[in-house]
Amino acid sequence: MGIGSFARSTEIGPIATAAALPSSGQQAAAATAERGRELTLAAFMNVEVALAMIGPDGTIHLSNPVFDRAFGMLPPDELQQQLQIEAWRRGGDDPGEVTLPDGRTFALRLRRLGQDCFVRAQDITDQVASLAHQAQLARTDRLTELGNRLMFCERLEALLRGDGEVSARAVLTIDLNRFKAINDTLGREIGDALLGLVAKRIRSAVTQDDVVARLDSDEFGIIQTGTGPQPETATSQAKRLVDLLSRPYLVEGQLINVGAAVGIALPGDQDTDPDVVIKNADIALNRAKQERHAGYRVFESQMDVTMRARRMLETDLRRALALREFALVYQPQFDLATRRIVGFEALLRWHSPTRGAVSPLDFIPLTEETGMIGPIGDWVLRTACREAANWPDDISVAVNISAVQFENRGLLTTIVSALAESGLEPRRLELEITESVMLDAHGTALGLLQQLRAIGVRVSLDDFGTGYSSLGYLRSFPFDKIKIDQSFVRDTNNDRSSRAIVRAIAALGHNLGMTTVAEGVETEEQMTRVTEDGCTEIQGYLISRPLPADQIGPFLANQDAAATRTAAE
Ligand code: C2E
Ligand code: MG
Ligand code: MG
Repeated sequence: MGIGSFARSTEIGPIATAAALPSSGQQAAAATAERGRELTLAAFMNVEVALAMIGPDGTIHLSNPVFDRAFGMLPPDELQQQLQIEAWRRGGDDPGEVTLPDGRTFALRLRRLGQDCFVRAQDITDQVASLAHQAQLARTDRLTELGNRLMFCERLEALLRGDGEVSARAVLTIDLNRFKAINDTLGREIGDALLGLVAKRIRSAVTQDDVVARLDSDEFGIIQTGTGPQPETATSQAKRLVDLLSRPYLVEGQLINVGAAVGIALPGDQDTDPDVVIKNADIALNRAKQERHAGYRVFESQMDVTMRARRMLETDLRRALALREFALVYQPQFDLATRRIVGFEALLRWHSPTRGAVSPLDFIPLTEETGMIGPIGDWVLRTACREAANWPDDISVAVNISAVQFENRGLLTTIVSALAESGLEPRRLELEITESVMLDAHGTALGLLQQLRAIGVRVSLDDFGTGYSSLGYLRSFPFDKIKIDQSFVRDTNNDRSSRAIVRAIAALGHNLGMTTVAEGVETEEQMTRVTEDGCTEIQGYLISRPLPADQIGPFLANQDAAATRTAAE
């Protein structure tokens, strides 16, 4: 039987008694009051909110059907406890919202009415669930159904604060290589489908304790909370991920290959800011990407310092071209048989107003990573061709071209237009490339080299002996020149194997009809030795240090004068 009943309605309001006979005016007033009570009671009984009046001992004096339906099954003691009435009576706060053990949530208002407690309870279970659902949606990445960045940061913050029993032991950020290119060439739909597959693979590689999210377009994050030893647990997961994610994907009948790099941050007790921890993992991630085959890296505080220094260097370099801080110097190349200068190698110099003279070895690698080598390399080519056009007809100019420039299809156009603008004959331009150019798997570099050869430009293989030194490269393209790296030339003083290598390369060049240049020749002794070993040209401080453009004319005139003197003697 429901508790709500009219029997208890006598408790409400003052009850008229028939002790004194009422006058007709009194009768009318009583009738009105009675009518009011009836209406109040009717409203009480029919309103869609649970209402009840509960006595100090927990007895329910009056309740409406909604209340009976909601709480009718609870024994009085438990009802008092669940609705927190006792605590409230003792001076506690109005409970506001309560969630019962069965999962229902009520918005509660408790009011004192004489000795009794007037309870108003509204079932808000659905609203709470829908709010929770909305909150969940706001924290979910729709594409992959993983958590998103908001969720990741919130969870990480809580885990770093150490709210629960577990804590954040390691944060991994994962980035796909070449995703943008895939998106651009194969279309967004394929890109999206690929991300879905990537998410699945990541999920398959984590434990239940780990938190996984997609942080950005092709960046994912993992928080490791397990108790395994660190950094071993994180690095082994990183290795597994790199391996797993770089296996081919089948998307709409297409086989797609993408690699992945992972950065790891191991938060310490003092790390409470999730953004800082994620940023550290990203710094390590960037480092892993720079070191092309690293796969993953663990953050070290030194990386942050290096990163900032790199960023400043990058900013300065971007300005340098516009502010004309670059210049070319030219180092002579000397033919051992004719004992004459046959050409000059153009070497880039950066005179920075704040840093002073910066070596190309210190900034070329950064320009290659950031793509700045494109415009800088163009400038080098145009300037070298323009300046060399003023030299005698039989003197050539060699320009260093990095592998990154070869990946850009615009290189051929730049070369052709640099030649056309300057009027330099193509045979007087020599391009120095390193073996890394030949590593390109698609053979585009080889095609480009052949096109260059077709227009008459010469090509030499620089720093030979330091890289992969595959003889296969020498067979795949008929280079005009091999430049033997200076480390072998310098070592010939006391290292027999270096000397044997110089001899072998010179013999190889001779048989293939290629010129061989010994680089970094500083002494007469080295010159004699490399001559005996069969090299045909030398370059180095012995002949001259690299010279500014305006000194080339006098330098060559000097050489001619010396030659005339020698001939006259
Ligand atoms: P590289 O192409 O092997 O250039 C030869 C380097 O050896 C030059 O250093 C030159 O100054 C130095 N050198 C020449 N003779 C001697 C010697 O007798 N003793 C010693 N100890 N060193 C000698 P530099 O100018 O510092 O250039 C370093 C590297 O930077 C170059 O090596 C080249 O790989 C790169 N580089 C320079 N300019 C450019 C450029 O315009 N574009 C590109 N992509 N790379 C460039
Ligand atoms: Mg060179
Ligand atoms: Mg070299």
